[in-house]
Order: sequence, then structure tokens, then C-alpha cells
Amino acid sequence: MSYRIKIEPGPWQFDVEAGNTLLRAGLAAGIALPHGCRNGACGACKARVVSGQVDPGYFMEGVLSEQEIARGYALMCCARPLSDLTLECRTASGLRDLPVRTLPCRIQKMDLLAPDVMHLTLQFPASERLQFLPGQYIDILLRDGRRRSFSIANAPREDGRIELHIRRVPGGHFTQHVFETLRERDILRIEGPLGTFWLREESGRPVVLLAGGTGFAPLKAIVEGALQKSPVRPMTLFWGARDRAGLYLHELAAGWAATGALGRYVPVLSEPEAADAWSGRTGLVHRAVAADFPDLSGHEVYACGAPAMIEAARRDLTAECSLPEDAFYADPFNFAADSVTP
Ligand SMILES: Cc1cc2nc3c(=O)[nH]c(=O)nc-3n(C[C@H](O)[C@H](O)[C@H](O)COP(=O)(O)OP(=O)(O)OC[C@H]3O[C@@H](n4cnc5c(N)ncnc54)[C@H](O)[C@@H]3O)c2cc1C
Repeated sequence: MSYRIKIEPGPWQFDVEAGNTLLRAGLAAGIALPHGCRNGACGACKARVVSGQVDPGYFMEGVLSEQEIARGYALMCCARPLSDLTLECRTASGLRDLPVRTLPCRIQKMDLLAPDVMHLTLQFPASERLQFLPGQYIDILLRDGRRRSFSIANAPREDGRIELHIRRVPGGHFTQHVFETLRERDILRIEGPLGTFWLREESGRPVVLLAGGTGFAPLKAIVEGALQKSPVRPMTLFWGARDRAGLYLHELAAGWAATGALGRYVPVLSEPEAADAWSGRTGLVHRAVAADFPDLSGHEVYACGAPAMIEAARRDLTAECSLPEDAFYADPFNFAADSVTP
């Protein structure tokens, strides 16, 4: 049995099999609905049910407020239809029909960028190419049915390869495997492209890029994508890490600033080691943005990293620096649903 879903503002329509989520079915139908973590954690896929009924499914506390629930909001990544529906959702500007595909790929290269950050280069079969926008992510489909999301750390390139920056999470199911047993030439299965974290091209507003740890990965892709076009919009990159090793591609970012590709690069350490001999900025990276940009009313901010950093940045930059709520684009690195106890 399937239900028909209409999206307002139109003209999109798609069918969902009973039991499937709205988002999964919409993406499979080639409709690039707005989404982020797909785990009920980030809220990027919020939609209002204008007519019809849904089972809202399990999502994390606080992602939808009491008022939003009362007004009929649901998360498309968790909600399943119980009837035909009309949904109202904020469609991402620059939305394009990039098909979400499942593809095999080979680990072409593995390099340590820092003691706890692995750089993977993935190679697709010669006849296949993953089309994506700089800033999007993929899911790695694990043999046991679990999946893990990773941002693509490069803009599309001639050889079709993609790069990932994977931080080791102590005891982490997948990242432990990456650091201990995964080998070059191993085969992975991925699904992508996913997410709506990309540079909004139609806007000429100056951009602040805000990265925490491996949140640098999609911002690197966005900078590379912007460099393939000219002229480059004014961009400032803030990159926060605990210690110097966490700024695992510091020289690359500093080089962008030195050549004028980036207006400015501001590295910020929260807990530098004595051995780092760090004379740069310290503290929380989003506080450095607030200090340097007291008025963000004419800017866009693209933030990526730990969910707590994203939330603090959204709260402080909108409240203190007049950043419009709709000029804050974020991709929080939420844990996968299977590692969270409902
Ligand atoms: C859209 C998106 C993009 C992402 N991109 C990247 C990326 O480019 N690079 C990257 O390194 N990660 C990224 N992540 C995070 C990644 O998907 C995994 O959650 C992470 O690698 C941990 O997976 P795991 O299987 O090793 O740990 P799990 O087995 O899932 O977790 C084990 C336990 O560790 C804890 N844990 C899990 N993740 C973290 C964490 N990040 N920090 C602290 N504790 C944690 C939890 O308590 C969990 O119970 C992204 C996440 C999302 C949603």
C-alpha cells in the first residue's frame, strides 16, 4: 500500500510505501528534500503537515518544540504516512536533482592527517561517477546494516575520486574499524550525495565558514568549489580544534589566505598543549567569530562540526551579532541513530 505526498509550494509529488519514511521515499523519487542528519537529531527536514496524518516516529528531544508539534510539524526523516498528505516545507534554494545512488567504491589511499584523523580517498568503478555539490555528504553502508555519514572533503574533480576526513571516536563502531582493520584496496558501499549543506550561489553576501575539528572537511570542499569559479565571494574561515594536531590541514588553509583565495583564515585552539607553543587565538571558535564580526547582519555563516558547537554558534551569532536565522547554514555531525539509546 502506498500514499501520495504533495509538497507545497509545488510542483513536487511522490509516493511512499506504508512503513517508509517521507524523506527516504522523497529522495528515492529524485526530489531533493531539505535534510541533514536523517537521524531525527538536526531538524533540517522539518515540514508542516497541512493535511493528512503521519506517525511522527522517534526523534530526539527538543528537535521539535511543543509549539511546532502543536502546529503540525514533523521530521520527514522519522515520519511515516498514515494517509495521503500535503506537506509544507522550506525547500533549499539551489536545490538540484542530484540522484541519490548506492555505489561500490575502492579505498584507493589511506593517510593519517593527525593521530586521530584518517584521510580516505575513494575510487568509483570506471563507468560510475558520483555527482554532488561541494559540502554534501555520503553514507557508508556497513555489512551489518548500520550506516555512518561522512562529509565529502573535496569539490568534484576530474578523476571522480572523493576524499573523507575521519576522526577516530574511542570505542566507535566504524571509526575503530577504519583505524584498525580497514586497508587500501578494500571495497565499501556508499549512498549519496546527501544533505543540503552547500554554498548558496544566488547570494553575493560575504561568507563566514566555521569549522570544528573534521567539520573542516565540507568547508574545504566548499572553498575548492568556490575557487573553481571566479570571482570568489569574500570568505573568512574560522577553524577550531582542541590542539594544534587537530588543525590537520593548517598549512593548506593558511596557503588559501596567503594567496588571497580566502580573505582570512583564523585558527583557534581550545586547549593547546604546552608543546604546541601556540601564540594564536584560543577559546571557543564561535566566540572568535562573534568577536571579529559583531555585525553579521549582511553575512552568511556556514558551520560544520559537533552538534554542541553548532547550537552554541547558532544561538550566539543570531542573538549577539544580528545574523539572520535563515543565513545560518549548518551540518552538525550527529551520532548515528544506532549509537543513541531512544
Ligand atoms: C551529516 C554528517 C556528516 C558527518 N561527517 C563526518 C566527517 O566528515 N568526519 C567525521 O569524523 N565524522 C563525521 N560525522 C560523524 C560520523 O557519522 C560518525 O557519527 C562518527 O564517525 C562516529 O561513528 P562510529 O561508528 O565510530 O561511532 P559510534 O559507534 O556511532 O559511537 C560510539 C559512541 O561514541 C560516542 N560518539 C559517537 N560519535 C561521537 C563524536 N563525534 N564525538 C564524541 N563521541 C561520539 C557516542 O556516545 C556513541 O555512543 C558526520 C555525521 C553526520 C550526521
